[in-house]
Amino acid sequence: AGVASLALTLSACGLESDASEAGSGSDAEGATVGVAMPTRASDRWLTDGKSVVSNLKTKGYKAKLVYGDDDPKAQVAQIEKLIEQGVSALIIAAIDNRSLNGVLKKAADAKIPVIAYDRLILGTKNVDYYVSFDNEMVGRMQAHYIIEKLGLEDGKKGPFTIELFAGSPDDNNTKYFFAGSMALLQPFLDDKQLVVPSGQTELDKITTLRWDGPTAEKRMSGILAKYGTQQLDAVLSPYDGISRGVLAALHSNGYGTAARPLPIVTGQDAELESVKSIIAGQQAQTVYKDVRRLADAAVTVVDDILNDRIPWVDNSVGYKNGVKAVPAVLLQPTSVDKTNYDVLIKDDYFTEDELK
Ligand code: BGC
Repeated sequence: AGVASLALTLSACGLESDASEAGSGSDAEGATVGVAMPTRASDRWLTDGKSVVSNLKTKGYKAKLVYGDDDPKAQVAQIEKLIEQGVSALIIAAIDNRSLNGVLKKAADAKIPVIAYDRLILGTKNVDYYVSFDNEMVGRMQAHYIIEKLGLEDGKKGPFTIELFAGSPDDNNTKYFFAGSMALLQPFLDDKQLVVPSGQTELDKITTLRWDGPTAEKRMSGILAKYGTQQLDAVLSPYDGISRGVLAALHSNGYGTAARPLPIVTGQDAELESVKSIIAGQQAQTVYKDVRRLADAAVTVVDDILNDRIPWVDNSVGYKNGVKAVPAVLLQPTSVDKTNYDVLIKDDYFTEDELK
């Protein structure tokens, strides 16, 4: 079954799972690992939670999975509870990367190793490993898609109009996605081959708290209200949920007709609704990150730590979190549009039926 149907089987917050099968025969066998995920409002995090739990089970661990529903305080309380319950390790995808210092001190005091999952946790030494994708590459892929499709790469002359959207200001990934994108877009902005009619180009003007689609929709509508007859050619969007909000605003402002075609809208996560939108010619692109591989990486690191092996990381230099450089495993993302979405079917990320 594909990811969407897997996600549907995961319904409750605080799902607990017990693995009874025999594992590798190590001391770590039968230990419980706490898994704290940020939200159930987006497909990808459901797949992450499900995949981490199933990988833990395969290796003979028990898992306690909790979802913080995008509330940083709730997430802190959930992690506190996992520590009290005596978990042997924590895998955490932070909601607010700076809100966890206190609770991670408690984890360190209890000698519980902590893996920052997908989002680096900042400002604390109490984070042992980081597993994620090459986040800057995600931003580059989105920007490159826009540059290529506008023809700028082949020397076509602008100016073309673009509006920029960024992720949540409390997510460390946001600045990496944006930096990756701007590394490619900036030269065209400097040359005025790309122009931003709203004038909103600074990161703090374009972030979207908690990656919320309706927030992005509102901002896009506000911008379009001042456009008059000007056509928008491209929207840099860092996440499929934001892209869907942007597309909703575009449609309610008269885009999506022969006279007013939709701009190129990028995205991230290959969420089912957005992949369908890509196939239907609405959203143009997304960045596919096979989070089943991320889950596997996280569980491999946990399994190594609990068995006193040194985890294999491909970035021994580490990702700086303000206090230390956290050793990181970084996976490669894939740009997907209507010409190559079959990679999702080949990977069994979605079935052909799910995409119909
Ligand atoms: C993840 C993205 C995701 C975003 C919103 C980021 O931290 O890296 O894959 O789109 O959060 O959930």
